[in-house]
Amino acid sequence: MNIFTFGDLLEHFPNRHIDKTSVSTIAEISAATDFIQVKGVIEDIAIIGEKRSKRLVAYLRDRTGLLELCWFQGINWVQKNLHAGSHYLVFGKTGFFNGRPQMTHPELEVWSPSLADGKNYLEPIYPTTEKLKSRALNGKQIGKLTQVLISLISPKDIRENLPEHLLQKLKLEGRFNSYINIHYPKNYEEYNRALERLKFEELFIAQTRLGLTRLDRHRKSQGVIFEKVGDIFNNFYNNYLPFQLTGAQKRVLKEIRTDTARGRQMNRLLQGDVGSGKTIVALLSMLLAADNGYQSCMMAPTEILATQHFLGLSHLLKEMPVNIRLLTGSTKTAERREVLGKLADGSLNMIVGTHAIIEDPVVFHSLGLAIVDEQHRFGVAQRAKLWNKAPLPPHVLVMTATPIPRTLAMTAYGDLDYSVMDELPPGRIAITTVHRNEMHRVKVMDFIRDEITKGRQAYIIFPLIEESDKLDYENLMDGYEHIKAFFPEPKYRISMVHGRLPAQQKETNMQRFVSGDTHIMVSTTVIEVGVNVPNASIMVIENAEKFGLSQLHQLRGRVGRGSEKSYCILLTGNKLSNDARERIKIMCATNDGFKIAEKDLELRGPGDIEGTRQSGALNFKLASLINDKELLERAKVEADLILQQDENLNAEENLRLKTYLQLQKGKTVWSRIS
Ligand code: ADP
Ligand code: MG
Repeated sequence: MNIFTFGDLLEHFPNRHIDKTSVSTIAEISAATDFIQVKGVIEDIAIIGEKRSKRLVAYLRDRTGLLELCWFQGINWVQKNLHAGSHYLVFGKTGFFNGRPQMTHPELEVWSPSLADGKNYLEPIYPTTEKLKSRALNGKQIGKLTQVLISLISPKDIRENLPEHLLQKLKLEGRFNSYINIHYPKNYEEYNRALERLKFEELFIAQTRLGLTRLDRHRKSQGVIFEKVGDIFNNFYNNYLPFQLTGAQKRVLKEIRTDTARGRQMNRLLQGDVGSGKTIVALLSMLLAADNGYQSCMMAPTEILATQHFLGLSHLLKEMPVNIRLLTGSTKTAERREVLGKLADGSLNMIVGTHAIIEDPVVFHSLGLAIVDEQHRFGVAQRAKLWNKAPLPPHVLVMTATPIPRTLAMTAYGDLDYSVMDELPPGRIAITTVHRNEMHRVKVMDFIRDEITKGRQAYIIFPLIEESDKLDYENLMDGYEHIKAFFPEPKYRISMVHGRLPAQQKETNMQRFVSGDTHIMVSTTVIEVGVNVPNASIMVIENAEKFGLSQLHQLRGRVGRGSEKSYCILLTGNKLSNDARERIKIMCATNDGFKIAEKDLELRGPGDIEGTRQSGALNFKLASLINDKELLERAKVEADLILQQDENLNAEENLRLKTYLQLQKGKTVWSRIS
């Protein structure tokens, strides 16, 4: 169980307690009674019943009534050790049988006067394993170990690590007491205080550590300086920006502007809902780089998306004196050579592409800014490659595909600078999302036909089941044949994109849909991120139950980008798991990516959320990112406050915190290396 030291045992926390602090009377037992402790005399011990209903029954009498005790297992042993006429203290879960109170497999203790008022603490029950249970270390017996341990320790073994002023301000229990009381509390109130203190400590220590990392990076990481907002930026902003920026876009731009001007490397996470307009923020930042004589790059996870970005950006920049090119895995050799040459001699200002642009042969003349779009498909190693592309590391702006819950962002990305775009461009018409049974596919197809007649376009998405590429393909092809039967050529034209198509073909098919030449895009999830076709107004998702929430939200985000009312139709069969039903329900209920992200976290837990890296900061023993949001916010506020006033933790009052952090850091874990 990963318990090697006393410290480990101390942090093996009980998952519940049972209340043996009071002794009740038998008359008090009601249907609402759960676990209870009573005292009485045993009468009438007898084995009754045959075979499977064979059981040992005894009666316990107190001055108020009679309680039936019943054993189905270990009958002989119990019979030998139970003595009629003796006094016992009995503990267990009560029920009623034939209208009489009954207790099955109770715990028994021979009565002694010292037990008169029950125990003076709640009894802890610990998590354990089947194997340990079979070796007599069940959830209760582990308590015998913790009890001994606790009798051995004193406050000097568990020194306070939170500053006194913080304890006072938040009225938190002391550290030593909390460790005792989380195991052996006198009552539930004491337990809750201990739990709160230890949860807070966990979150606060993590936030302090993240804050220190952030500060350390700020201090150490020199970065290129974008001194000015110049002609290129201003010219574009004043003459070619196709719309007014939203307040959120302006705010984030200002944050980026400040960040890139102060001489340290920007490492910023930009969170925004699907369609909140992250691309234009990226472009404006790239113009800022160009104004200051620096090159910039934008990386996307797929070729389709990179191509889209490239076409979109070059269109916006067509009147601007900047050179922008595309580089992906399928760029032809001659062109590649040319692009690489221009990157190296500085005549290219911007490059858009896939991972290809951070591969070794790519040399930049003066890379100053790297944008990473839909970052969860980029690994840490890939990001690290960026660092070798310039003498000073370029500024980095990471844009998430869908929102991450705030609690998760605060812990998993707490060492990054962080911007949120929580506002959609004006005039968006909310997408209507509905859930339909597959049996009614014909109706759905009729609906698509009507929309196409009105000049719209539709996506039909099939799931990608990673275990079986072949099945996916067959599923998609089946679907495609079906759809073709509904929408016969030449009147209707269909594009299809899937993982098995060569890149060139994918792109051609995609482009036909983008240009409006085809009416329907049939696809696996390669389409998922980023694609922008404002005329498309329908998103049909086949086997919607197979998709995760953030994926569904991403897919839905492909529509609702134009001026027309858009629809998202989730098709499923009859059989749905509870989780799938829940996912579909929330999709139909809201378009808000931040809400959906919260729900996703609730349904799946922090370890599985896309877009978050595995982070030590997430391994909390007690605190939960789902249930302890407020405590986390508080911990962050307090940690930031302390670091703001004393960034090296040198103040007298913060020394215990500093000492603790240093000890933790250097903690040798020899015992665990096995
Ligand atoms: P995402 O944040 O999902 O990457 P995009 O950058 O693709 O979103 O923007 C979605 C759409 O909204 C695009 O068509 C873009 O041109 C448009 N858009 C972005 N910002 C604004 C704005 N301030 N006003 C109007 N439309 C905008
Ligand atoms: Mg995008």
